[in-house]
Amino acid sequence: MRLYNTLSRSVEEFVSRDDGRVSMYTCGPTVQAPPHFGHARAALVPDVLRRWLTSRGYAVFHVRNITDVEDKIIARAVAEGRPAAAVAETYARIYDEQMTRFGILPPHIAPRASGHITEMIGLIERLVEVGAAYEAGGDVFFAVRRFDTYGNLSGRNVDELRAGARIEPTERKRDPLDFALWKGVRGQPGSLQEPSWPSPWGRGRPGWHIECSAMASRYLGAAFDIHTGGVDLAFPHHENEIAQSEAASGRRFARYWVHNGLLTLDDAKMSKSVGNVIGLGEALDRYGADVLRSFYLSAHYRSPVDFSEARLSEARAGLERWRAFLRAAPQLQVADLPDVAAVREARGRFTAAMDDDLSTPVAQAALFDLVSAGNRMLEAGRQAEAAAARAALLELAGILGYDLSPASDDGAGLVGPLVAELLRLRSEARERRDFATADAIRAGLAGHGVVVEDSPEGPRWHLA
Ligand SMILES: [Zn+2]
Repeated sequence: MRLYNTLSRSVEEFVSRDDGRVSMYTCGPTVQAPPHFGHARAALVPDVLRRWLTSRGYAVFHVRNITDVEDKIIARAVAEGRPAAAVAETYARIYDEQMTRFGILPPHIAPRASGHITEMIGLIERLVEVGAAYEAGGDVFFAVRRFDTYGNLSGRNVDELRAGARIEPTERKRDPLDFALWKGVRGQPGSLQEPSWPSPWGRGRPGWHIECSAMASRYLGAAFDIHTGGVDLAFPHHENEIAQSEAASGRRFARYWVHNGLLTLDDAKMSKSVGNVIGLGEALDRYGADVLRSFYLSAHYRSPVDFSEARLSEARAGLERWRAFLRAAPQLQVADLPDVAAVREARGRFTAAMDDDLSTPVAQAALFDLVSAGNRMLEAGRQAEAAAARAALLELAGILGYDLSPASDDGAGLVGPLVAELLRLRSEARERRDFATADAIRAGLAGHGVVVEDSPEGPRWHLA
């Protein structure tokens, strides 16, 4: 398989460190608010990568942390008058629930920062020992100029960065690029809103960047295969993770850096600061997990994706084509499935696309062509061939993480009768010349993607 590595800025042949095994770390959520639809992509991309590597025979070990010690959580705790741990607990649970609804495979370990303070202190001590970090008034900073390759991941030039940075009057660091590993706390030692822990530098809490370095190396070792995250984390978060981890261990941290593009809304990054946030829970209610998955996978994972109702409708219509074929095609025992050229070809294209830096748009196009071929088989009465296409579609869509089982097809059996019932009411309204009601029913159906066309034989409908 070939995979784009942000570190080399090129598509590389993927070679795992340990034959047959892949170790993967994903930056998880800072649990201070419910996840938005944009966050979901940073969970979906490693999910699809993991599913593909697994289908290729690798045993993937996946760690995704929970950042439950962070300034934003403390700010929320103070604002709400609740313990920081309660804020973190609330949103960690919401995150897990929504990821499950979205069909994201749970990580093998979901370490919380609050449970790894000892490891973080140990890592900071090591960095001070090797001269890569220094203490200043109860804080500890990483000395960026002591790490030669700083800026390599994100392609930044240290001198240019330094020219654009400045030290705030309240900060004790020596260089504007230095960043906090440990933040001394001068408040109440037992505060529930601003938790702190004892350390060689006095009470305080870890910085966000050191949390990931400590948790990744705790469970995956100083060197591992793949690190994923949104491209917005490449600088400074991932740059700092590399600096901390490699300065401490002297070994190369993650071998491959996989970054997903962001979700945009009218070309603006979807983030709380812009105020254009769509909650993942709300999106799941409105569109369902598979439509959201299809929306994202119809773009390459590195490209930005613009949120658009039209593209979501397209995703829904595409999935309905798959489901309609699955309902129409017969099911046969695997042993009874014939070898069909169109199925073999679709499988080959699918595999080649996924092996080519997870090209899900091309992989999905192969599945749409498979469905078209399958429908032609049905029209021609070639039932056994259609059954082979059906089995392949279920298998390959399953690798992408879709749940196309009949049990998941909750709307399929109901949509037809419900639309027919509404069209009957519409016809009655028209007969009594109540065109306002008739038009309202038609417009209401259109709002759900049901297009009504009148014909001499009566109204017909299809999904947009
Ligand atoms: Zn991280």
